[in-house]
Amino acid sequence: MITYQEFKRNLDAVQKQVESACSLVGRKASEVTILPVTKNHPVEAIQYVQNSNYKSVGENRVQEAVLKKESFASAMDWELIGHLQSNKVKLAVANFDRIQSVDSLKIAKKIQEVAKSLGKEQRILLQVNTGKDPAKYGFMEEEVTDVFCEIYGCSHLRVEGLMNIAPLSDDKKVTINTFHKLADLQSQLEVLNKCKLPELSMGMSGDLVEAIAAGSTMIRVGTGLFGARLL
Ligand SMILES: *Cc1c(COP(=O)(O)O)cnc(C)c1O
Repeated sequence: MITYQEFKRNLDAVQKQVESACSLVGRKASEVTILPVTKNHPVEAIQYVQNSNYKSVGENRVQEAVLKKESFASAMDWELIGHLQSNKVKLAVANFDRIQSVDSLKIAKKIQEVAKSLGKEQRILLQVNTGKDPAKYGFMEEEVTDVFCEIYGCSHLRVEGLMNIAPLSDDKKVTINTFHKLADLQSQLEVLNKCKLPELSMGMSGDLVEAIAAGSTMIRVGTGLFGARLL
C-alpha cells in the first residue's frame, strides 16, 4: 500500500487534471466529483479518502466492500460500481448508498423488491454499454429507452443518472464516442420521460479527460490515486 503522502500527491495530480480538463471545455471543476475506487486495496485506502475529506468510495464487489465496511468505523458513502448478481442484491441494498451498476430490468426489479422490504429508497444509476463492448455489462441503448419508464416508476428506486465504462481501446475516437453517446442518451431520456438524470458517471484514470469533455459529472479513479491494485 502506498503512503498517505503518496496518496495526497496523486490526489493533487488528479484534481489538477480535472481542473485543466474542465477549463479546456469551459466547465467548472466543481461540476465533476472524483470518486476514489478502493477495490482491491485494504481499509487504509478508505481511511486515506476520509482523511482528505472525500465522502464516498467506489467498490466493485459486494462481499469485499461489506468486509471493509465492518472494519471501518466512521461514516462513508459506499457506491457499488461492479456487476451485481441476483443472489447478492439483499446484501448490496443493505450496504450500499448507491448502486451504479444496474444493468438489467431483472436486477432493477429485484433491487426494488428488496428495498421495499427493507423500507429503503435505493439510489441507483443505470449502466449502459454505449461502447457495445461484448466484454462489458450494461443495457444496450435501445433497451434502456424501452425499460426506463418501468424502472423510473418503481416506488423504492431513485434513478439519479447513467454510468458507463469505455471499451479498452487505443483509439481515442472510440472512447470519446462512447462518452458522447451516454451524454446524448441522458438528454433523450430526460426529454422523453420529463425527468432529471443529473449524474453522468463516466471516466476512469486513463480516460477522465475525454469523459469530462463529454459532460461527465463523476469520474471513478482507482490506479490514478492508489497505484496498482494489491489484493
Ligand atoms: C476499477 C474500476 C474503476 C477504476 O479504474 P482505474 O482505471 O483504476 O481508475 C472505475 N470504474 C469501474 C467500474 C471499475 O471497476
